[in-house]
Amino acid sequence: MGAQLIDRTPLATASDPRAQLDFREACKAAVRVFQLSEKYKTAPYPNAYAVWFAYSTKSDPALVAEIDELLLGQDTISAYDIELLFQAYLAEEQSVFATHDLSQAIGDEIEEVLAVIGTSLQQNSAFSATLTTLEQDLPKAAASPEQLNSLVSGLIEENRRMSAMTQELNQGLARSQSLITTLSEQLDEVRTQSLRDPLTSIPNRRAFDKTLEEAIEHAARTREPLCVAMADLDHFKALNDTFGHEAGDVVLQNFARLISSSADEPRLVARHGGEEFAILFPGSQLMEAYNRLVNIKHLLSKTVHQLEGAPAPLPAVTASFGVAKYEPGMSARELMQKADKFLYEAKTKGRNRVCAPGIG
Ligand code: GH3
Ligand code: MG
Ligand code: MG
Repeated sequence: MGAQLIDRTPLATASDPRAQLDFREACKAAVRVFQLSEKYKTAPYPNAYAVWFAYSTKSDPALVAEIDELLLGQDTISAYDIELLFQAYLAEEQSVFATHDLSQAIGDEIEEVLAVIGTSLQQNSAFSATLTTLEQDLPKAAASPEQLNSLVSGLIEENRRMSAMTQELNQGLARSQSLITTLSEQLDEVRTQSLRDPLTSIPNRRAFDKTLEEAIEHAARTREPLCVAMADLDHFKALNDTFGHEAGDVVLQNFARLISSSADEPRLVARHGGEEFAILFPGSQLMEAYNRLVNIKHLLSKTVHQLEGAPAPLPAVTASFGVAKYEPGMSARELMQKADKFLYEAKTKGRNRVCAPGIG
């Protein structure tokens, strides 16, 4: 029952696609990783290594295409871009591996416990067999005190052995139980993390897609109204370019907090990607959702964004919003596309506004 099972480093296993790369190929790819790191001036810290490794082995054509596109206009890749690439293409994979490894560790531990219980059952029946033999020998032994003495010593010895074994077994089971509890907690944590955006701690797109499917299924069944909104920060690239990515991150965190506290439940809000957020309004008609978004827009324009250590707050930030109502028969994709269409309209009409079909 090894405590080393708690090691959370994802390992390559036979079913793991990374295992398909043989050792020589992996070494060649590693050499290319260091060449690329040097050429494009990225320090080979773990996430950068993972990104360049995926690029060298062409494991994901979309990642290769995005890096090639980035390299068209510049001769270096920033740590920030590396992090975005890692989050977009590799982070989820890592958490899937971590989940897999933890499940495996729990399975192994349960097998160990079953083996211990099996041994104990065997020892138990051996003990009863000894007792039966001693019982059968009793009438004969009663004839002589020496024989009776040896029978009693045998019994005491057998009893001592059994009690030591039971103690060992109990300790083993207790250790196992606490290890299984730790592993289960880690598994829960990894599952939760894989559904949460690391920067803002709100649900990510994967979690939102699931909630949206459930909400649509509910609306289709009950005929209750359902609206969905897409929000996008205005001129966010310019804010990053002027004040730095750390400032951009603070704004993203503040906006995430604001829309989460304005939603009926935290799970109804998600960071959909980059500086785009999605909000669900189950049970709301279009007009109600629209008014709530206007309120969020107002609160955002009044929010003070303060970067730690900066002498003054950042300038006010605005966002544009598009909202759409679910109509029977619509798919999740169609509903999101409709909200996105109105978000686009809000942008083209001058930003810092809410647009909805027939309103705004
Ligand atoms: P628009 O008003 O049309 O939406 O313009 P925009 O500048 O907001 O939109 P654009 O799509 O040109 O730029 C989005 C920027 O968001 C580019 C990207 O660097 C930035 N971004 C995406 N994710 C993050 C993040 O996690 N942190 C920071 N700081 N910036 C991010
Ligand atoms: Mg955008
Ligand atoms: Mg934007």
